[in-house]
Amino acid sequence: MIRLQNVNKWYGQFHVLKDLNLDVAPGERIVICGPSGSGKSTMIRCINRLEEHQEGQIIVDGTELTNDLKQIEAIRRDVGMVFQHFNLFPHMTVLENLTLGPVWVLKRPKAEAEATAMKYLDRVRIPEQANKYPGQLSGGQQQRVAIARSLCMNPKIMLFDEPTSALDPEMVKEVLDVMVELAEETGMTMLCVTHEMGFARKVADRVIFMDHGEIIEQNAPDAFFDNPRNERTKLFLSQIL
Ligand code: ADP
Ligand code: MG
Repeated sequence: MIRLQNVNKWYGQFHVLKDLNLDVAPGERIVICGPSGSGKSTMIRCINRLEEHQEGQIIVDGTELTNDLKQIEAIRRDVGMVFQHFNLFPHMTVLENLTLGPVWVLKRPKAEAEATAMKYLDRVRIPEQANKYPGQLSGGQQQRVAIARSLCMNPKIMLFDEPTSALDPEMVKEVLDVMVELAEETGMTMLCVTHEMGFARKVADRVIFMDHGEIIEQNAPDAFFDNPRNERTKLFLSQIL
């Protein structure tokens, strides 16, 4: 579903992604962890071209990411993204946030888009919030709206960039529960940057550890956490566990 081949990226002189190679199978769930500044966000943002790589190939569902806008649009249609800070439109209701993309990008009739939106609000367990504005919701509810908004675009792949790290502790679980359900009940390909190790153990097929722009180690979650091989992975895990 996703292939990164010898991907390199620089911010000016700074070599942020170093020769990354990664193959993600359809339906696979990957958790990416690593120290702050190691390039995790940059890597997943390259997958839907929020950032541009300079060398190597990124292929998403058979389409290579180049400067061709048609290809970028095709890939973005397949890829949903959930950010740390929700990124909802504050001047639109929850329902309007959820129907904007389907109506304007996918050209769905409004009534159909609203029905789909309600289905996903139900799924993330906040159908009663449909007519509120994001500012009237808790952080956990806003993040669930953001997840529902992505699902309304019917993506094949979901990218999550630290979706719970801006939340108060008591709201982390309600968001993780929704993500676990999503993983268990759909065959969606998921890449999730998170340090929530319980989540990783429960849903990940593979955990990837990044440091200084490189993929240092990857393994099935139990082997990864119980038996890390690389010294840098061991140090990192000793700091977060
Ligand atoms: P992570 O998500 O693992 O914390 P990032 O991918 O956000 O790491 O950042 C990796 C490195 O690239 C960091 O050193 C960061 O300061 C730098 N960086 C990120 N975005 C930019 C940018 N737009 N311009 C310059 N440097 C950046
Ligand atoms: Mg980041």
